[in-house]
Amino acid sequence: MNCDVLVIGAGVMGLSSAYHLKRLNPGKRVVLIERLGGPGQGSTAKSGGGFRNLLTSGTNRLLSEATIDWLNHLQWETEHDIGLHNTSYLYLLGESQHNRQKPLFKEMGEAGVELKTYSPEELKGLIPDLVTDFTGDEDAEMMGLEPIEVGVQGIRCGTVNTDALARCWEALFLGLGGVVQYNTSADRLILGAERELGLPGEPFVWQGPVVKGAETSRGEITAETTVVAAGVWSETLLDPIGFDSMTRPKKRCMFVFNDPRLERLLHAKGFNDEGILPFTQLPDAGVYIKADVSEGSIWVGVTEDLGRGYGLEDDPQPELETYTDNAYHALVKYLPCFEGVRPVNMWAGQRAVNRFDKIPVVEGMPGLIYVGGATGNGIMKCDSLGRIVAAHYAGEEEAELYGGRRVRVSDISVKDRRVEKERF
Ligand SMILES: Cc1cc2nc3c(=O)[nH]c(=O)nc-3n(C[C@H](O)[C@H](O)[C@H](O)COP(=O)(O)OP(=O)(O)OC[C@H]3O[C@@H](n4cnc5c(N)ncnc54)[C@H](O)[C@@H]3O)c2cc1C
Repeated sequence: MNCDVLVIGAGVMGLSSAYHLKRLNPGKRVVLIERLGGPGQGSTAKSGGGFRNLLTSGTNRLLSEATIDWLNHLQWETEHDIGLHNTSYLYLLGESQHNRQKPLFKEMGEAGVELKTYSPEELKGLIPDLVTDFTGDEDAEMMGLEPIEVGVQGIRCGTVNTDALARCWEALFLGLGGVVQYNTSADRLILGAERELGLPGEPFVWQGPVVKGAETSRGEITAETTVVAAGVWSETLLDPIGFDSMTRPKKRCMFVFNDPRLERLLHAKGFNDEGILPFTQLPDAGVYIKADVSEGSIWVGVTEDLGRGYGLEDDPQPELETYTDNAYHALVKYLPCFEGVRPVNMWAGQRAVNRFDKIPVVEGMPGLIYVGGATGNGIMKCDSLGRIVAAHYAGEEEAELYGGRRVRVSDISVKDRRVEKERF
């Protein structure tokens, strides 16, 4: 097969890239291949689907805010239903965490991020199941758990259904005449020479190397430009040609609960118009909590970072003990309603972690564009990244994000990177 642009990977990044490439180049043949049987079945399917603009880095915030606007546009101004809920985010913080993060919240507030704070008494009124004070609880003291000093709410934040989002991207791409081929795995990138001489062994060191497509499980696909958007698996394609993805895979587990004892928590009123619990972060317990109203369930993501090794897994498996023997002990101190409640479902996914600055990467070489490294934030930045890939393809200096905001394409490259580190 021959095409103008080959996109490898139908997660949110590949789908968004394919859509914007086709939108801006309607005459070009854009082909998206995916080794699995449908869209968004890799890390995208494992995600919590949360989006937030609580970020300290200006570039990072720009990528998120423009994508949040796009997601809201899709949900409220088109016929697509991506299961978006503007639930907000809520950070429940003890004194020392609050002291550490207070300057960051101040900075974000000054940059226009809409925040609201709650005292422990106000939080108790809104979340009756929450324990904010551990006076007399020797276990909690022994564990070093801090009483909750403050709740900080990010207003322009919420969640989407990532499966619905992936299907929406696919429909948008197909609607423009894009081609999608599932159950097709790219086995390796084809590296050729810029000016081929037809000699065996090309490209030689004295020739300029160019990526010319990929060998796939269904035969060779040659392309003028190949976009690698294979998530944590990108390195398996990029490493062999000496192109560094700058990210490393790390596993994260998610647990789902569906129990009448959690009903009141799920429907915590007063934080948003929908009367549901915000996407709630309890850093001291090493968890975050998502209310999934469509299923009437509560998701608990375990955020342990240290002690969790890096490493690519083809099919990462959840570890129940990460919850039962680990996060559970602190979680029940803050939210005793979880006591004795067992998860009804669980899974694990991998995040493409950029340890250096936690900001995504769009980088190229002749014939190749790589997009990735969203460090657990890919859903909330997917539209902006797809637009940057399309601008990179067009050789534009700047990409126009949704809503008209502009970003310099090279700012999130590796070679000419110009970003502030994300500190939140
Ligand atoms: C537990 C967990 C919770 C998360 N929570 C959030 C959150 O709340 N908010 C947020 O914004 N982000 C979150 N993330 C991160 C988010 O899921 C990712 O940033 C995002 O899904 C990455 O999208 P992607 O398209 O780069 O990767 P993927 O979705 O993994 O897509 C890559 C695709 O490429 C395919 N592929 C790989 N190799 C090949 C090949 N050789 N040939 C063909 N196809 C190939 C894969 O099958 C896959 O479908 C979370 C991640 C995890 C694991």
